[in-house]
Amino acid sequence: MSESQINFKDYIRVIPDFPQPGIRFKDITTLLKDGPAYRAAIEEMRKAVEHLKIDVVAGPEARGFVIGAPLALALGVGFAPIRKSGKLPGETIEASYDLEYGKDVLAMHKDSIQPGQRVLIADDLLATGGTIATSINLIRQLGGEIVGSAFLIELSYLTGREKLGDIDVVSLVTY
Ligand code: AMP
Repeated sequence: MSESQINFKDYIRVIPDFPQPGIRFKDITTLLKDGPAYRAAIEEMRKAVEHLKIDVVAGPEARGFVIGAPLALALGVGFAPIRKSGKLPGETIEASYDLEYGKDVLAMHKDSIQPGQRVLIADDLLATGGTIATSINLIRQLGGEIVGSAFLIELSYLTGREKLGDIDVVSLVTY
């Protein structure tokens, strides 16, 4: 099958009421386990962002790694991991954000991005945009210039895009 014939939605499993009642969880493991579909998804994202002259891709754990790292490799650039607080061994900066119940803190190594570098943010899914807004905050603190964002899935009814301001958004599948 040629890449353009792939309907990525067919490879995403929707699990109702996970992790709590009312949430329709978009499970991407059914896409990841299919080599040609996984490769086609990364290739389609690469084609959509290659014109942005990206220096580094940044992605939040854990599913941001399975999208962001292969995308970085396909673009021939480095990858900067964004992790939960307390996981990175070197000097870090941190930013917190509100969850439905409580707070979460994300961190990046201070030397993961050089001032002036052109950064693409990647994740599996854009929902409310809270994770990505916090990631943007960290990257900007390090002096990175955000040139775009790329997601496998966008939940457009949660309007996460609005949190990204005028940053370019690429998403392969929309619900
Ligand atoms: P948000 O910060 O609200 O944009 O949420 C983004 C993160 O939460 C993504 O990285 C997803 O991994 C996860 N997430 C949120 N909603 C869903 C959903 N319905 N299905 C699967 N993952 C989700």
